[in-house]
Amino acid sequence: MKKVFCIGELLIDFVAENQGNDLTKANIFTKKAGGAPANVACAISKLGGKSVFIGAVGHDPFGKFLLDTIKKEGVDISLAQEVDTFTTLAFVSIAEDGERDFVFSRGADRELVYDPTLRKNFHGNLLHLGAATALLGGALEQAYGKYLFDGLTKDMFICFDPNYRSDLWKDKQEQFIKKCMPFVEKSQLCKFSLEEAQLLSGKENIYDACDILHEVGANIITITLGKEGTLVSVRENKAIVPSIKVKPVDTTGAGDAFIGCLLKQIADLDNFHELENEFENLLKMVATANKAGALTTTNFGAIPSLPTKNDLLA
Ligand code: ATP
Repeated sequence: MKKVFCIGELLIDFVAENQGNDLTKANIFTKKAGGAPANVACAISKLGGKSVFIGAVGHDPFGKFLLDTIKKEGVDISLAQEVDTFTTLAFVSIAEDGERDFVFSRGADRELVYDPTLRKNFHGNLLHLGAATALLGGALEQAYGKYLFDGLTKDMFICFDPNYRSDLWKDKQEQFIKKCMPFVEKSQLCKFSLEEAQLLSGKENIYDACDILHEVGANIITITLGKEGTLVSVRENKAIVPSIKVKPVDTTGAGDAFIGCLLKQIADLDNFHELENEFENLLKMVATANKAGALTTTNFGAIPSLPTKNDLLA
């Protein structure tokens, strides 16, 4: 089984307990492990895959809690870094409709230092670059770019998720688009939300958006559409794969569960380079990943809600 190296942030989500309030009103918070690439790593290991997390936490109790949490889910944390800066914190509230309101207090995750010796570990495996805070500067942004280039060998599979957060990139959208483009260009698979696809392509129509983003580089594009499912595009072939019906209570982590489940299935293939030529197979894999995304919305919090292999079968 191939490994999926997930690179980026791992942070504390302080989740407001008095649900239905935005952050101005919330006053009791529960500590939870979060960070999109770490969630993806957990999604993969919970489904029985092999994931390795590369990111930085503080040398403090929050950092220890985070590493312990993802390790318990089966993620290999041997390449994670503990640094002297405080662990990154996010404060999250779930409004009445299940959508998030959040702010960041950014610390250790931006301190990730590039390690060129890791390059040899990547061969034959998959690399998942979940951007969230990675493109906001610091050592992490530099490391991030270098790991992308480490992954550009013929025997590797690179996946990119821009994880756009409007409150982090207010008034800097052009900069965000520019920073994402090399990743879209070099990755075999890009996972976008509808907002991200429209923002990066400058097109409202999702089919036009795919065409523009294929022109940039990505061979396989998925655009997650919440309860409507996922648009899958491999240049000449496009289809929307419907999701399953669920009663969502918290959408946190649905996108991470989706891409984690898709990457787990890609890691199980004998030859992942043929995937873009096997559209029917890809659609089946996306249908399974949709299920993983949908199931994640039926519980609160990201990591505890990620489905196991048995949950998916049930
Ligand atoms: P995130 O906000 O975590 O970055 P995202 O916007 O990429 O996530 P969503 O579209 O919310 O992700 O969800 C990912 C996938 O999960 C969807 O493509 C869909 O298959 C499934 N999903 C999400 N919400 C629902 C829902 N309410 N009902 C059924 N399936 C859902």
